[in-house]
Amino acid sequence: MFKLTFKRGGIHPKEMKDLSKDSAFEEMPVGAKVYIPLVQHIGAPCTPTVQAGDYVKVGQKIGLANGYVSANIHSSVSGTVLGFEARENAAGRRVRHIVIENDYKYDEAFLEPLENPSSEEIIARCKEAGIVGMGGATFPTHVKLEPKNPIKALIINGSECEPYITTDYRLMLEKPIEILKGVDLVKKALDTKQVFFGIEANKKEAIEHIISHVDDEQLSVFELKTKYPQGGEKQLIYALTKEIVPNGGLPSDIGYIVLNVSTCLALYEAVYLGKTSYTRYLTVSGKGIKRPANLHARIGIPYEEVVDYLGGANEFVKIISGGPMMGVSMHNLKTVISKGSSAILLLTEKEIRDVSPTPCIGCGRCARACPINLMPMLIDDAVLNNKIEKAESYYALSCIECGCCAYVCPAKRPLVQSQRLAKKLIREKNLKK
Ligand code: SF4
Ligand code: SF4
Repeated sequence: MFKLTFKRGGIHPKEMKDLSKDSAFEEMPVGAKVYIPLVQHIGAPCTPTVQAGDYVKVGQKIGLANGYVSANIHSSVSGTVLGFEARENAAGRRVRHIVIENDYKYDEAFLEPLENPSSEEIIARCKEAGIVGMGGATFPTHVKLEPKNPIKALIINGSECEPYITTDYRLMLEKPIEILKGVDLVKKALDTKQVFFGIEANKKEAIEHIISHVDDEQLSVFELKTKYPQGGEKQLIYALTKEIVPNGGLPSDIGYIVLNVSTCLALYEAVYLGKTSYTRYLTVSGKGIKRPANLHARIGIPYEEVVDYLGGANEFVKIISGGPMMGVSMHNLKTVISKGSSAILLLTEKEIRDVSPTPCIGCGRCARACPINLMPMLIDDAVLNNKIEKAESYYALSCIECGCCAYVCPAKRPLVQSQRLAKKLIREKNLKK
């Protein structure tokens, strides 16, 4: 099969997927309490619909979406609401969590399963179930299902290009029928027929497995070159269609919607089983964890309980929520599993690199690695010198924070942090205007 890929830049980090790729999903046990964050998505935080002393069931709505770009929150256990607690989320922000005492009965409050739903019913169910992009972006999915422009094709992202993470790979092996039924629902919601399903070449078994279950002439599975960030929306669209999303634009502007395989599975479960979004599939890996694994876990379980369940930790120096390229580094394991927890990594000293930066030597490697064609060293320099307008003129807002520039930089410049800071300062400046 011919391998497709994006046009320029990109890197080939060590894959590290062997640590967990052969581990089938295990059901993560739940402790005496869960802590459900009221913010688990991009957009407005939820308003709690319960108070201390209320009895709640599994799947019951306990947080109401505040506005169109927001997502409902549901309980992952049955039991009694103990109250609210401010805890740190993976990004280090203090967020309100609803604390629920688990009664271990797992009484359910599922939605009514739908047999042959209309497009409107699928979108309404997606919204009610609180489904967000499970690839890590956590953008509310119902918003994506109502694009302004007609959609030429739906693109399914099975690339999972981040090192270590094997969640989507395992899902494609273990739940191909459910994923493809979820894809059918998305097609119906978007009123589109064509589907391009992209999977990286390092997941040969998943490619064969998905192809063996496809029963739709208008769904084509493509093998993508193993190259980071192959799973970036714009990179994936280029690889599969050779079309370019305009600078500052969205995939839907040129007629495409990109969804991750886990998101399609969540939609299948919401529509056909009536299950709201209160669990997530994730990888726990890195040489710092005693037993790397893929888990199916309820939202609200602290990371420390996950580490205990997997036999504890070896000596590690870094905790990352998400992948090593785009995930966030955390300072403890008190954070809980939320809708965006695609992975928990415990990395040893040998797995990370020294990050003491030295001055830029002008080698240009960062620019050659950038898949967006930016000049990261110039944006870095502009930010350091507080020249925000200059950073904007270098298109800093287009940065997808993939980390390729920092990965290749021989001077170990913290280039992603500079790009993030540039984006924040540009947005603040424009808001003031
Ligand atoms: S983090 Fe931004 S600047 Fe750096 S390579 Fe990725 S897109 Fe380019
Ligand atoms: S890769 Fe690093 S040293 Fe080379 S130009 Fe970019 S910032 Fe400078």
